[in-house]
Amino acid sequence: MTVRTNLLDFDRVQLAEYLKGIGENSFRAQQLFKWVHQRGIVDFDLMSDLSRPLRAKLSELATISVPAFECENRSGDGTLKWLFPVDNANSVESVFIPEKGRGTLCVSSQAGCALECAFCATGREGFNRNLKVSEIIGQLWLAQNRFPETERTGARLGGSVPSRTVSNVVLMGMGEPLANYDNVVHAVRIMLDDFAYGLSRRRVTVSTSGIVPNIDRLREDCPVSLAVSLHAPNDDLRSEIVPINKKYPIAELMEACKRYTDSSQGLAVAGVKWQRRGSPRDFVTFEYIMLAGVNDQLEHARELISVTRGVPCKFNLIPFNPFNDSGFNRSSERAIRQFQKILIDAGLVTTVRKTRGDDIAGACGQLAGQVENRRTPRKRSVKAVLP
Ligand code: SAH
Ligand code: SF4
Repeated sequence: MTVRTNLLDFDRVQLAEYLKGIGENSFRAQQLFKWVHQRGIVDFDLMSDLSRPLRAKLSELATISVPAFECENRSGDGTLKWLFPVDNANSVESVFIPEKGRGTLCVSSQAGCALECAFCATGREGFNRNLKVSEIIGQLWLAQNRFPETERTGARLGGSVPSRTVSNVVLMGMGEPLANYDNVVHAVRIMLDDFAYGLSRRRVTVSTSGIVPNIDRLREDCPVSLAVSLHAPNDDLRSEIVPINKKYPIAELMEACKRYTDSSQGLAVAGVKWQRRGSPRDFVTFEYIMLAGVNDQLEHARELISVTRGVPCKFNLIPFNPFNDSGFNRSSERAIRQFQKILIDAGLVTTVRKTRGDDIAGACGQLAGQVENRRTPRKRSVKAVLP
């Protein structure tokens, strides 16, 4: 039996190449993209503007296989968490956070993570595998098609595009996106594509613990908003809680952030048009987890001001979200406010993340709790997945 190709694994350029390869007009990629990503139709027979012979050919050779969720949890604050089995051994989670005027989807990029940050539930699990493009973009497809149009909230993108549930995507779920670089870039291109989700690059955020060479590649390949999980102001402390720092220390990371903000403009990639000029919003967001007695003292805040000097940035302080046996505590509200004040007084825009969905273990760093028992523990291998 021949295995049918899952067209959900392709961005539009790849889909056009595939169609050419089977003797079809590559222009059909646009039509197919609209059916799948804008109208949510995955059955070739329903794609009425494709000829019958083409529909028959596609049904024989290809499929559009979207992930199905196994369970859905709804938090008291409206946050939704979906658990997707991606194969017999692994599951991943995505979280949808509805807010007034927008809906943010937090997407996973790997099953597990190899980077072993001390405070992260996903890191505790170790690395299982990279998600395919279809498994990454499938999380967005599902969120968009989960509810009938009438129930949808969020921004309207206008034109013939139906109203959207998801206005923003953050790659802040399970896994390190820049350690699954190629698949993440193809999936992000689909998110930005006007024939698919049409999100602006400012509304798609890649969050990384700091894989420097791939920050540079992202700048060239697909410059979306960048969040960097800094979490400590000096190498001694950062190497302890974010071990990838031993490979890419803070000074190198800061240089990469400067390069990213210098030239994340004026590129044209894969049929996605970028604005010719950047705007003052071209900054990096530094994420900083607040761990009581570890990285939350006032001298840490002062040190942060000095190490990030010269990087166009803003700060987002994340109150630590606890999980079983984490060994850490969340900083007090007072400590967080004092820390924030020091940064603000130095002229740095600094927000404190509202914790959403923690009653369903859907908050940052809590993903993984429910899937432990499905997982096949694998040997951790940082080298295997890093440049
Ligand atoms: N691997 C990427 C993206 C996924 S983690 C990264 O590290 O950036 C998304 C964010 O959640 C990161 O800033 C991460 O440091 C943070 N995080 C991890 N565990 C957390 C926890 N227990 N509480 C609060 N934030 C956490
Ligand atoms: Fe991986 Fe990010 Fe968790 Fe670190 S914080 S272990 S990089 S998912």
